[in-house]
Amino acid sequence: MKALIVIDVQNDFCPGGALAVNDGDAVVKPINAMMPEFELVVLTQDWHPSGHGSFASSHPGQNAFAVIDMPYGPQVLWPDHCIQDSEGAAFHADLNVTMPAAVIRKGMRPQVDSYSAFFENDRKTATGLSGLLRDRGCRHLTFAGLATDYCVAWSALDAVRLGFDVTVELDACRAIDLEGSLAAALSEMQQAGISLNERQA
Ligand SMILES: [Zn+2]
Repeated sequence: MKALIVIDVQNDFCPGGALAVNDGDAVVKPINAMMPEFELVVLTQDWHPSGHGSFASSHPGQNAFAVIDMPYGPQVLWPDHCIQDSEGAAFHADLNVTMPAAVIRKGMRPQVDSYSAFFENDRKTATGLSGLLRDRGCRHLTFAGLATDYCVAWSALDAVRLGFDVTVELDACRAIDLEGSLAAALSEMQQAGISLNERQA
């Protein structure tokens, strides 16, 4: 069984959003086109309370994109984004939200960020996605969405550690690319045995 995991295709990560990824809305079309190929489609949704610990605004004197030490390790500080129930946290209006069987919300605890669809950034607190996938008999996972070098990469790398076969559809992802983060993420994913697919290449 094959599952498609669609990472964070939300307004705040698309052009005009609070943490816009270049060309982020370009992922919507290929993701919608891909959905019927999979037995299970799951969406993730970054879903922060206001004043979340990953926001630069929660750390006086710090600027967005600075890196600070949190109790669980280094944390990039982001502009306020994907606040629960806001328009920015909503899925892109053109994303197919009918076919997906589940939505995994993440980043809900005030003091812990969550890039991965499987674990919060403390690396211990599980979201429950792996149980869902195993219960549905899914061994082969394909990832797409935003952003390649953060939430997609962290999710894909966790999936490999959890024993899934993993593909990332690069044409259906876009990156933030802070200080070489895209190249680093691509090489880490390659070394982990993740198939990096480019359909339009
Ligand atoms: Zn976030």
